[in-house]
Amino acid sequence: MPGTELFGAEERKEIEDVLSTGIMFRFNHDAQRNNFWKAKDFEAEAKKITGAKYALAVSNGSAAILAALASSGIGTGDEVICPPFTYIATIEAVLMLGALPVFAEIDETLCLSADGIKKAISPKTKAVCLVHMCGGNANMDEILKVVNEHKLILVEDAGQAFAASYKGISTGLFGNAGAYSFDFFKIATAGEGGIMVTNDEKTYLLADSYCDHGHDHIGNNRGMENHPIIGFNYRISELHAAVGAAQTRKVPAIKSANLKNKAFLQNILSKSSAISFAKLGDNNGDSGTFLNIFLPDTETAKQTVEEFNKAGVSGFNYWYTNMYHFINQWDHIKNLQTASKLPIQVLGTPQDYKNLNLPKTQEVVGKLISFGIRCTWTEAQMTELAEKIVACVNKVTAGVKA
Ligand SMILES: *Cc1c(COP(=O)(O)O)cnc(C)c1O
Repeated sequence: MPGTELFGAEERKEIEDVLSTGIMFRFNHDAQRNNFWKAKDFEAEAKKITGAKYALAVSNGSAAILAALASSGIGTGDEVICPPFTYIATIEAVLMLGALPVFAEIDETLCLSADGIKKAISPKTKAVCLVHMCGGNANMDEILKVVNEHKLILVEDAGQAFAASYKGISTGLFGNAGAYSFDFFKIATAGEGGIMVTNDEKTYLLADSYCDHGHDHIGNNRGMENHPIIGFNYRISELHAAVGAAQTRKVPAIKSANLKNKAFLQNILSKSSAISFAKLGDNNGDSGTFLNIFLPDTETAKQTVEEFNKAGVSGFNYWYTNMYHFINQWDHIKNLQTASKLPIQVLGTPQDYKNLNLPKTQEVVGKLISFGIRCTWTEAQMTELAEKIVACVNKVTAGVKA
């Protein structure tokens, strides 16, 4: 959670600005707000880092992915190819729009593979919702080939991959629209916040209306604005945007510290032959938020997690058993347990969710353990951590080899 490590005077000053006027609403009130426009500032900072033509700050990353899908025209009955390893919000967003998630295989990049996408395509497939997991990036050249060949809409959930890129282009900008999260656990945080990006004006304007009850935001009399579409309220408050703007300004420094720390750890860990690392679509485009290690297999990874717990190693995620990130624990999705009826319960599921056959994904997530990188780590702390990791892994794998 690097952003939270650096919370300080800059964030406080931004909040003070908002409190000094009391205008916590992002629109209008021009005379009272002393020219403080924190949501606009947050969007400007996000555009600076990503190079996006348009950025829309919203209430959270889940709303950003919802807006990205909706403004890309994804709706009821559309099949959307999704990864079974993601934060659950990706799948929820597809379902809330009435669309139908189709789960496809990931690979060692921790993201959907081109081959996995290809095999999941049906005549009803409308879109791919690609998720750049654990701060990294997918194999974009191969994926874009499949997407273009089949004329699919690409939407990117880069919730965990703000400031990541592929061959110089920011994750989130390869498709029609992309989404980033600024919740408490991401590279930078607004407390709660999200940003949707696109290079397409029409998509941006649709999303801008969608996230504020359909308002067209033309003129300065809110009550007299037109409503080109039906929308809802996914607005960000000026207080959250103020924090988001201050934090986003810190991202270049966070990223370079994280990458340095990740390289330092990997250098020590690579001395263990039992440890390998997750792949990146582009090695130069990592945001450095996670150190993703592979053990030889699921059994070894499970035993390593036990050794970590015994040795007091902390700050890692074993996604394979995580309730929110991996399909094995998504019983509420498999059983379609909902508060009220969703379109998928009328239309039917596009796959038998209870009997999915995704062996590659099971293998990859089973052997994966991720450590959140801290940008404030000292070399001594990292050396101690890496040596503990190696000792735990050696203990487990020595037993296996014997
Ligand atoms: C964090 C995250 C989200 C959700 O973001 P919130 O801001 O918590 O709503 C969506 N997708 C992915 C991949 C995430 O990691």
